[in-house]
Amino acid sequence: MYASDEEITLLKQLETVDRGVAKARKQFDELPHRQAILTTRTKIADVKKKQAQVREMLNDAEASLNALVSEDERLNAKQHAIEEKLQEVKGDYRSVEAQTKELNGVAKRQEKVSVELEEVSAQVSRVQAVLKQVDEALSQLHSKEKELIESFQAAGTKLQAAIHEGEKAHVQLAEKINRDLLREYDEAMRHGGGVALAVLDGTHCGTCRSAIDPGRLVKIRSEAPLSHCPSCKRLMIVES
Ligand SMILES: [Zn+2]
Repeated sequence: MYASDEEITLLKQLETVDRGVAKARKQFDELPHRQAILTTRTKIADVKKKQAQVREMLNDAEASLNALVSEDERLNAKQHAIEEKLQEVKGDYRSVEAQTKELNGVAKRQEKVSVELEEVSAQVSRVQAVLKQVDEALSQLHSKEKELIESFQAAGTKLQAAIHEGEKAHVQLAEKINRDLLREYDEAMRHGGGVALAVLDGTHCGTCRSAIDPGRLVKIRSEAPLSHCPSCKRLMIVES
């Protein structure tokens, strides 16, 4: 196949550019940040769920605590009222007995409320401590996500720029190569999995290393400067 020295040089340059673009694309797709960001986001969702549960537990415990505090206040007021009444009915035996009985009932309930207050107050403290841990974990995960996104963007921007430059260079080089030759190159690129060119290296393909039988070799040499590798179908440069 005919090709001028200049075209052979252009093909080599084109292949270098295309391989660079393919490499940058692959690196972009394989940036480790993507997976790490997804994993971090899954963790954030889990911790948020946990945070909501713990908040609900805290709300319940605080509501119980408030109810007990109110009851305690009511009982104290009742206690004082009864004590005042006892002062008033000093001589009246029956009334004293009735009021004393009521006062004992209040005292019993006060004791119970006091125990419950201690228990619920301890529970509120425990849940608050858990919530603090969950909040801290969430804040750390958010920082991690932010860092990952920033480094993903930094690495991604560089690679995108390389891809863009390579594509521009491809267009400029392709314009200088004749269409038929370019079509051959594209096909060889497809067959060759991203490597379009091979050089005849003695009796072997310089790229796939297949040995070429003597009959084919004669034909390939006759097609210099450009033929095809019978094995890998790449465009084969035959240097004279
Ligand atoms: Zn080959």
